[in-house]
Amino acid sequence: MAEPRTETDWLAKARELAAAFATRAAQHDRDGSFPFENFDDLHQAGFLAMTVPVDKGGHGASLSTFLRVQEELAAGDGSTALAVNMHLIRFGAERESRAFPDRWWDAFCEGAVRHGWLVNTAATEEGLGSPAGGGIPETTATPAGGGWLLAGHKTFTTMAPVLHYFIVMAAIPDAAGGRPSIGNFVVLRDDPGVSIDATWDSLGMRATGSHDLVLDRVTLPSGRLLNRRLAGAADARGAAGLAWFALGVAATTLGVARAARDHAVAFARERTPNDSRTIKDYPGVRTRIARIDLLLQRSRALIFDAARAWETRDAAGMPPLDRVAVAKVDTLNNCIEAVDLAMRVVGGVSLSKRRPIERYYRDVRAALHNPPLEDRALEQLARSALDEPAEAPKAVE
Ligand SMILES: Cc1cc2nc3c(=O)[nH]c(=O)nc-3n(C[C@H](O)[C@H](O)[C@H](O)COP(=O)(O)OP(=O)(O)OC[C@H]3O[C@@H](n4cnc5c(N)ncnc54)[C@H](O)[C@@H]3O)c2cc1C
Repeated sequence: MAEPRTETDWLAKARELAAAFATRAAQHDRDGSFPFENFDDLHQAGFLAMTVPVDKGGHGASLSTFLRVQEELAAGDGSTALAVNMHLIRFGAERESRAFPDRWWDAFCEGAVRHGWLVNTAATEEGLGSPAGGGIPETTATPAGGGWLLAGHKTFTTMAPVLHYFIVMAAIPDAAGGRPSIGNFVVLRDDPGVSIDATWDSLGMRATGSHDLVLDRVTLPSGRLLNRRLAGAADARGAAGLAWFALGVAATTLGVARAARDHAVAFARERTPNDSRTIKDYPGVRTRIARIDLLLQRSRALIFDAARAWETRDAAGMPPLDRVAVAKVDTLNNCIEAVDLAMRVVGGVSLSKRRPIERYYRDVRAALHNPPLEDRALEQLARSALDEPAEAPKAVE
């Protein structure tokens, strides 16, 4: 089959890939191993260039198409979908709001199109917590020999086993002792001093390879600096990054919850304890299944309402970025509730490692800890309502 181009093609191929991912998901989840073969499949089918702009050799998929694909992929394997989300949103956001120098933008696009090279941000640190909090990274970049000397330790570096490009956030100290700058640097996995510490052993999304990135006095040429701003100043990547990231995470979470829903529905149609009644005939089961569908469809509607508002910059009723925050927060909470209901439908065997539903139960929670976190999203809504004009959004990692 030729590489997919229309939304219908993308979705058909995504469902085909998701079915293959689903056969491998339990093993990767159990071992905490990285699904290299899924990424080979994604590359072969053109998905790693899906959001790369057409004039750079990619497919230029719209935000809405990307989100539909994310839901499909996540229904097969949440970890693979969450991981590839980090790569694909980079191109979608940058396409809308250019912040990278041409040289690197061209390199990221060409790498994705020709080689399936993956890119992601390494910003979070143990001491810093979420960079969205506005703290200063402990990782430093100091001028040295006309270039930079990078030293630090990043946590949560999703796709660490396969990333070609790490976009590393570091503090650039001010020589005069003033406020530092925050810089983003391109680090390659074979740069001397770069290593991966395989720490990722998490409750959910266990196959995302979100290990630590260790930067042991890494020397970089000056051209590796992508962008730079004074600590506390607005990030040039701002709003587009937040929209693509938050909605991509929401669509991924929806896919995981839909897989749990489908499992519970199939179970309820077949399960007939003591050969008496099939459990689908019990009112409690029927109500729970209906409630799951209500929660998932409400989430889907919110996600695509926010995507449409973002794509058309439709601010009627609520600013697009606030709709994004609403969609992300409400989808996460709806999906957690939906998977919980699905567990109750399936009953005691839902706890069994022989069924995928206990994995969905764990995976669906992970995006609670991806931006925008609930408290920050609610604060954003409160700010819009109470403190106009709104502040510029913070960076997204
Ligand atoms: C599966 C997964 C993949 C990830 N992949 C990546 C990646 O590829 N790259 C990357 O850089 N990071 C990644 N992250 C990290 C993520 O973006 C967050 O930085 C990380 O989860 C820590 O966020 P935190 O809010 O818990 O941290 P903390 O900042 O330590 O916050 C701890 C708690 O305090 C609350 N809190 C802190 N400050 C405030 C405040 N000012 N106002 C209100 N509440 C506050 C938070 O809401 C949270 O409940 C990933 C995380 C997960 C779970």
